[in-house]
Order: sequence, then structure tokens, then C-alpha cells
Amino acid sequence: METAVIHEGYRASEMLGSLTTPIFQTSTFTFETAEQGERRFAGEENGLIYSRLGNPTVSALEERIAALEGGEKGLAFSSGMAAISAVLIALTKANDHILCSKGLYGCTYGLLMMLKDKYNITSDFSSMQTKEEIRSLIRAETACIYVETPINPTMELVDLQMIADVAKEYGIPVIVDNTFSSPYLQRPLELGCDVVVHSATKYIGGHGDVIAGLVVGKAEFLNDVAMTTQKDIGGVLSPFDAWLLLRGIKTLPIRMDRHCDNAEQIVEKLKMHPHVKYVYYPGEGSHPSNAICQKQMERAGGMIAFEVYGTKKDVQQLLNDLTFIKIAVSLGDAETLIEHPATMTHAVIPEASRIEMGITDQLIRLSVGLEAWEDIWNDLEQALNKVGQIDDVIATK
Ligand code: PLP
Repeated sequence: METAVIHEGYRASEMLGSLTTPIFQTSTFTFETAEQGERRFAGEENGLIYSRLGNPTVSALEERIAALEGGEKGLAFSSGMAAISAVLIALTKANDHILCSKGLYGCTYGLLMMLKDKYNITSDFSSMQTKEEIRSLIRAETACIYVETPINPTMELVDLQMIADVAKEYGIPVIVDNTFSSPYLQRPLELGCDVVVHSATKYIGGHGDVIAGLVVGKAEFLNDVAMTTQKDIGGVLSPFDAWLLLRGIKTLPIRMDRHCDNAEQIVEKLKMHPHVKYVYYPGEGSHPSNAICQKQMERAGGMIAFEVYGTKKDVQQLLNDLTFIKIAVSLGDAETLIEHPATMTHAVIPEASRIEMGITDQLIRLSVGLEAWEDIWNDLEQALNKVGQIDDVIATK
């Protein structure tokens, strides 16, 4: 993996020996003759046509992510949501059904609601803890299973191998949003799943400077996506953004290990703080998903959620009291980022469903960055110390 993130997908000999992948900042490609143009459009000759249909900088990234996830083909999109919507729209038709993990990224949930309103594509949400539970929710119209693991933001996991086994009984594909883990920590295709989607905006880019999405899976399916929902809806990645990702991804293994090291230290500290009610981190022995984590993840990642004692106002004040930790809704960056899911990333979810997913007003999500963990903890601790009075907190415990 450490070598693949640097070399896969790029052949310098084809690019005048340039060490880094050149940026092909062009909208279109010229044909030598009108007949050549005809042959390319007819698919009789390989070659470039127009950057929405293919671009060498973007292709290098697509090959690299395919190699990292262990898939046949990759496709790059202008955002994680462009990738997710291209896959879901390609796999479904009106009146179909999608079976989903219990918690999903807010905009993915929003997309599912839009598919329901427009095309009567319904969804069920399941904790997917047993094969029976999954089987009981699969119907004749179920077109696919769509899961996130770890689930944003409560860090619950689903057992990918078990879900893939059940899906195979019914011949339906399993799509996994692998954003929180990256291929360095988890490779769903190796566990039998069919399609991986990423918000590459997060750990894959890693530097908070690009919005992008990636999909990896079987060549046959991705060729179909490339020629339908990608080509005709058009959420393709720009060459410059592909270049930023090719640069960022080179340090993915180093960054992921550091994110994990820092997160493990912060979890230990949070657990001992009297104002913290519960820490959600699947690497923790007490977390309900710890056994699955040990089975399918290399390490538990850099994302932590924790609940504090207090009101929504106290939580907002805690965020405001931080000094260098930034209040922001992305994740996977060098900077430590903190957010309040109930009023930010997951605000679109109706309150009852949100609470049912474990997203209370007291829940905070932390994307642990690459700074010295002692500095991260010092900032968190001084803000936590200010939440309410310690005597009040102990009284409610
Ligand atoms: N999936 C997950 C788990 C996310 O956290 C996000 C964004 O936060 C997305 C998908 C959407 O990605 P993007 O913002 O790149 O469209």
C-alpha cells in the first residue's frame, strides 16, 4: 500500500519523464482527421475525446484508487455526493427499494428522500446486526444494499462480510461508503462487497483543499456508470482537483497511522474527563462494534464522537471555547476539526429519526488531526472544564 499510493496509475515514460502526473487542463482533445473523430465516437478506436468522458490526469487517479481498493476500475467525481448519486441512480429504477445501514451521512439520507419523492424508490434502515435481520428486510424490489461503516457520526460498524454473504443469496450488490476508513484501514471489496464509494474530500485528499468523490468496483458496472450517470449527469472531477488528490494520496498511510495514534490518545483522555458521558470509538474494548472492528479494520481510524453532560447551549459554548481546534464539518484533514452533528451534518434528519440514530444534542464529533496529540487534548480539556459546574455534572451522573 505504501508503494502503491505513490506509483499506481502513473507511467512517467508516457509523460516525457515528468516525476509528478502532469495536469491536463483541457476541456477537449483534438482529432487528426474527421474520420478519426468518427472512429472515436463509434468506439472503434481508443483515444481521448472530451474531458467529461476521460482525462489523463483524472485517469491516473482512477487507476490508483482502483489498485488501493483492490477493484477492477475506478471513477472520479466532482464530490462524494456526485459519486454516491451516480451509483444509486445507475442501480435503481422507479419503485425499487434500497436497504441501508441505520445511520448515513445527512446528504445521502437527503438523496434517498429525493429518490422516494420523485421515483417512489423506498429505503429501509437497519442496524444489520444479524443475517436474519437483513434477510427479513430484503424484498423482490430491493435493488441494492447501501452501508456506511463506521457510521457517521456514532462510529457503529456493520459486518461487511456478513452483509455481502446475505446479499449474494439474493444476487444484489452491496455498496459501501468507505470515507471514514480509507483503503488503508478497510477494503470492502476484499470482504465480498461490490462497490466502494468515497468522499475523497476527506482522508484521501487529506489537506482540506478539494471536494471530490471516487467509486471503485467491477469494470462492467463502472463502464456502465461512466457512460450513463457520469457522462449524462456530468459530475466529473477537474484535472487540477485530480492532481491535488494524486498528491495528497501519496501520504495516506503515514497520515492514517498518525490520525489513529492521536485518536487513541484522545479517547483515553476523554474517557477520564468527568464532563464526558460517553466516548464512541470502535477501537475501544467497550464499544459495541469492537469485535467487528478487529475483524475488518486495520485500526479504528481518526474519528471520535463523544457525548457530554449539559444542554445544547453548553455544547455550543464548548465548541466556541476551543482555541486552535476548528469548528468545521469536514473530516480527515491535517487540522483537528470539531462539529455538532445535530445542528450541522445531520440537521436534515427529522428529530425522532436522529435521536433513534443516537445523534443527541449532546453528541460532538471530532476529526482528530495530525497536530501533537498533547496540544489537541489541552485545547479540548480547557473547553471541557468550562462546561457547567463540576458539582452539577456529578449530580446528573
Ligand atoms: N459520505 C460521508 C461519510 C461523508 O462524511 C460525506 C461528507 O461529509 C460524504 C459522503 C459526501 O461527500 P462530499 O462532501 O465530498 O460530497
